[in-house]
Amino acid sequence: MTAHKIVLDYVGCRLNEAEIEQMARRFVCHGDVIVRDAAEADVIVLNTCAVTGEAARKSRRMIARARHANPNASIVVTGCYAELAPEKLAHLPGVVQVIGNRQKDDLVDLVVGEGALLDAREILRPGSLGRTRAFVKVQDGCDNRCAFCVTTLLRGKGHSRPPGEIIEEIRLLLEAGYQEIVLTGVHLGSYGHELGRPQGLRELVEVLLARTDVPRLRLSSLEPWDLDGGFFDLWADRRLCPHIHLPLQSGCDATLRRMARRTTQASFAALVDAARKRIPDLTITGDVIIGFPGETQAEFTESLAFVEAMGFARLHVFTYSSRPGTAAARMSDHIPLAVKKERLIRMMALSDHLWHACRQQHVGRIYDVLWESAHGDAPEGWVWSGLTDNYLRVFTAAPTMLNNTITSARLTGLAKGGLQAVIC
Ligand code: SF4
Repeated sequence: MTAHKIVLDYVGCRLNEAEIEQMARRFVCHGDVIVRDAAEADVIVLNTCAVTGEAARKSRRMIARARHANPNASIVVTGCYAELAPEKLAHLPGVVQVIGNRQKDDLVDLVVGEGALLDAREILRPGSLGRTRAFVKVQDGCDNRCAFCVTTLLRGKGHSRPPGEIIEEIRLLLEAGYQEIVLTGVHLGSYGHELGRPQGLRELVEVLLARTDVPRLRLSSLEPWDLDGGFFDLWADRRLCPHIHLPLQSGCDATLRRMARRTTQASFAALVDAARKRIPDLTITGDVIIGFPGETQAEFTESLAFVEAMGFARLHVFTYSSRPGTAAARMSDHIPLAVKKERLIRMMALSDHLWHACRQQHVGRIYDVLWESAHGDAPEGWVWSGLTDNYLRVFTAAPTMLNNTITSARLTGLAKGGLQAVIC
């Protein structure tokens, strides 16, 4: 069996990241070698995104970069852009295979052919793909039809992985030395719904905390309507990271209705209030779209005010991008680019203000930090970067190797992109 040298890369969401990690583990189990330098590769696998026009452009640039780095490598393209425009991508120089989302789970076999599997414990060690935290895909697809969303069209109906399979994968990751597991999916909160389990995600988290000794378990993006106040009881277990990411998308009820979002200012505010009351040291991050069709100046101003009132720690701000096949693309009253740019600047300024206030609020506190990477030198040694359990990026200088270790650290002040810390 020939061992191939494989490079894997992605554009887009945490799920694309989790899938790349899963593919890497399967290639290794197949006897192939994961390399970081495209110039060395036989095969380059690229997981693409099409959520916005810009994401599609980034995906094409990623393909062109791979081709430029190694004209002899076989480029395999998968992901949402491969699902949206297979013909277009198949004609790009160097591309030998285009594999859509529905075949993605079989990608390794489709690329290198079925072969004897090596010991699954030969799982990639923390850091081998340049990452210390392991993203585990537990769900795919979505049954909602938010008006702006092309993902739901490209990923198909919601479907969940069996809990036993997830537990086994997490056990192997913990054996391999991972300290933090991040559960991810297209619509994570709908885990188990298609199996008639409305509390499916809650049950899964309970089982994972009961049946594994995972030091840190984190949940990626959660749609607000999937959660009720009782969901936050899960955080009685301090291994569940006190950070939730809630895609609000707009802080204005009229805009939310046109977006076909199943949330309102009132229900979202009540949820945030319940979470803050139940989860100590909680940070909440979120997604907001500006410039959705029909968004008046008054609606935008209302959205700004609501976002500020919710006290997010930080925001991902997206400019509305018309996507083929979505309901919003067929709507009238699209917002001129100049107006979108002006609103983007104002919402980003608010996000920066909230992030500053959030960091200020945590100065002096002591948190557990998972140290991830070292960069640059300091008189005391390396400058280490890590993540607190409540999702604050922190930096410290230390002469010792800290990567993939969890230590307590006192946050001592603001730093570029995060906070300064000293290890306790
Ligand atoms: S919940 Fe809405 S935004 Fe999220 S994947 Fe489904 S359709 Fe898209």
